Amino acid sequence: MAKDKEYVIESKGFDHVAISRERYKIELEDLMKKEKDPCVICGGEIADDWGHNPEPVKEYNEGKCCDTCNFTIVLPARIKLAYQH
Ligand SMILES: [Zn+2]
Repeated sequence: MAKDKEYVIESKGFDHVAISRERYKIELEDLMKKEKDPCVICGGEIADDWGHNPEPVKEYNEGKCCDTCNFTIVLPARIKLAYQH
């Protein structure tokens, strides 16, 4: 019986750790979501870690743009600019 008691305490301890880890993970994810600004061009979520420089479509200090805008708007705009000069 003494061993059963021990087991219960241990399993409770383990559950506590498991819950804490899960909460920590959720809090960390929330924090990362908050720190991520949306794309300055389409307002969508930036999927990768850093985003892309939106120049020359938007000012660099306005924020970052997402993958989609980078390839469909920013890069064509840069190519256009390059051909204008
Ligand atoms: Zn975008």
